[in-house]
Amino acid sequence: MEDAVTAQFRCRDCTGQRVFCQNCIVSIHDTMPFHRVEQWNGAFFEPQSPLAPQLHQLMDLGHNGSHCDAPYTAANARRPITSILTVLHINGYHKLQVYYCRCLGSLEPYQQLLQAGLFPATHARPATVFTFQLLKHFQRFNLASKTAAHDYHKALLQLSDNVLPQSIPSSYHAFVDVIRQWRVLMILRRSGKQHSQGLQTGELAIRCPACPRPGINLPERWEEHPQR
Ligand SMILES: [Zn+2]
Ligand SMILES: [Zn+2]
Ligand SMILES: [Zn+2]
Repeated sequence: MEDAVTAQFRCRDCTGQRVFCQNCIVSIHDTMPFHRVEQWNGAFFEPQSPLAPQLHQLMDLGHNGSHCDAPYTAANARRPITSILTVLHINGYHKLQVYYCRCLGSLEPYQQLLQAGLFPATHARPATVFTFQLLKHFQRFNLASKTAAHDYHKALLQLSDNVLPQSIPSSYHAFVDVIRQWRVLMILRRSGKQHSQGLQTGELAIRCPACPRPGINLPERWEEHPQR
């Protein structure tokens, strides 16, 4: 049970709208960095950035959530230690600090991000990433209700700041770029193909389930049927 003095934080995305102390709100959100946390400032609950020192939500990559303590050597000197990313999630824009693994033989930063479910806009020096949930969410909306990428992205901006959505630096062009890549990767995966090289024409197409195919959806000896 939190007392009224220490309980200053609440989360708009957690169920229950309970108020917590700093330690509790930080530990609850260890694996949920894209929740919107607010702090009581004496007059109202004020939205807080996950980069604010009192929250300091960060993500460690490469060690199943633990911090990498590989020493800084000449071999990994060119590897980034940490970076602050712009993240697009189903509830809007976020900032998140990530720490990369620098162990010998560790994956490239963009691969570590992919492993954590974050799709980077670029492979070279990722600064903007899209959560896998967001890419799946958009694809479902796009297929089920024909939601255009532009409208979907506009809603993400409004979810982030409904008063001044235009004040947020837009990642729209990166979003449409990544959506195309995601679509191709999903088609390849569903077709059981590992690489796009050497593909034959029509190999990724889905066969029409209504078209008659002997041995699949036609009765045996269908050729002899009087109504064929
Ligand atoms: Zn929460
Ligand atoms: Zn507490
Ligand atoms: Zn490491």
